[in-house]
Amino acid sequence: MDAASSAGGLNFELPEEIRMLKDTVRRFVDRELIPIERNARDGHKLKPEVRAHLTAKARELGLVGYDVPREYGGLGMGLVAKVTVWAELSRTIALPSRAGDVFGPNVSPILYHLNEEQKQRYLLPTIRGELNWCLAQTEPDAGGDPGSMRTTAVRQGDHYVINGMKRFITGADDAHYAQLIAATDRSKGSHGGISAFIVDMKSPGVRLLRSQELVVDDRPWEIAFEDVKVPAENRIGEEGDGFGHAQHWLNVGRIRHGARSMGVIERCLELGAGYAKQRVTFGKPLAERQAVQWMLADSFMELHQLRLMVYDAAWKYDEGRDIRTEAYMAKIFGDTQSFHAADRCMEIHGGMGLATDLPIEKFWRDQRSMMITEGPIEILKMTLARHVLRTYG
Ligand SMILES: Cc1cc2nc3c(=O)[nH]c(=O)nc-3n(C[C@H](O)[C@H](O)[C@H](O)COP(=O)(O)OP(=O)(O)OC[C@H]3O[C@@H](n4cnc5c(N)ncnc54)[C@H](O)[C@@H]3O)c2cc1C
Repeated sequence: MDAASSAGGLNFELPEEIRMLKDTVRRFVDRELIPIERNARDGHKLKPEVRAHLTAKARELGLVGYDVPREYGGLGMGLVAKVTVWAELSRTIALPSRAGDVFGPNVSPILYHLNEEQKQRYLLPTIRGELNWCLAQTEPDAGGDPGSMRTTAVRQGDHYVINGMKRFITGADDAHYAQLIAATDRSKGSHGGISAFIVDMKSPGVRLLRSQELVVDDRPWEIAFEDVKVPAENRIGEEGDGFGHAQHWLNVGRIRHGARSMGVIERCLELGAGYAKQRVTFGKPLAERQAVQWMLADSFMELHQLRLMVYDAAWKYDEGRDIRTEAYMAKIFGDTQSFHAADRCMEIHGGMGLATDLPIEKFWRDQRSMMITEGPIEILKMTLARHVLRTYG
């Protein structure tokens, strides 16, 4: 084959096993989740009886443990497989936005970087579903800019003493331990001055102050840490490495935002196209109006762009490459375009778009919040622009 006609090894097809996985999860979502999507949750938590039923179904399909490496008894899926699962699960609002518990434990990627002794105490019980965790990074005066963090961890002999406030901490009320990020040397900021710790939530001096009502179902907590003694062996990695650990977790989290957005856009297309064909105004179906057609065409193109971005990032991650810029782009583009897709879908549905009978208003609220959590879009663009200026400037 001559070079001009050869694909040169480039291949955009999903491997057969990933296509089968996608079909399995899609059927599960269509049969088990979409029919109950408005009644499955109590606030941001799945109803216990719903969780038990869905977990049993997921076990039958061999999906439980998809997010856990093989050496710890899980399915050991790579990121390409996981983004496929995340995208499919996000076609419904049935599950809380982090859907780990139906498919096995929700394990923070940071935990796989613990030392052996810490893994025995925290990782393994978390995988067995005995311990819950929360990630405590954000503070009242340090959200998008963790370098200005005020919570301090001061070494005193064989332990650290932690003082400070954390805000917007999801799941703190159920957590047995927090992965807490604190300043060990404020003069160094995020480069070498921040460390990560495992803090037992029952430690003297840890106080849950209040949960925050939000436009989304999540009710994250404000937590005070007052002279909390944490054994030095509970530090994750080296002193000063904390920002790096959080970044690793956030990289995968950002790809997950992109994957989630794929599912949301696809469902909004299904809902929008279906309604546009059936709803007649001024004697014609909405589907025949160019204004409506263009909304659907734009969301469809954005979905295609996003798929390419997310699978490219996931594939590079599985190959062991640095995916920081790909992760930024997947989150920026995914969160923004999925919010637009939900907004267009709402517009096409008119008043019904606002109705809580349909999932659209929840997609709309959730995707708006995604543009802020785990790194606001503007801050990610600022970091991405630094990369552009270094590369092209
Ligand atoms: C539902 C929910 C759940 C959350 N769960 C957790 C959790 O479990 N653990 C945790 O640690 N945190 C959690 N957070 C916190 C979340 O990650 C932060 O809210 C987010 O990082 C933004 O921080 P901030 O709210 O302090 O905004 P700020 O950093 O104060 O920024 C405010 C706004 O200013 C703009 N902005 C800021 N800096 C710049 C800049 N340099 N250039 C241009 N524009 C800028 C952005 O538009 C940004 O949205 C959660 C938040 C929510 C809403």
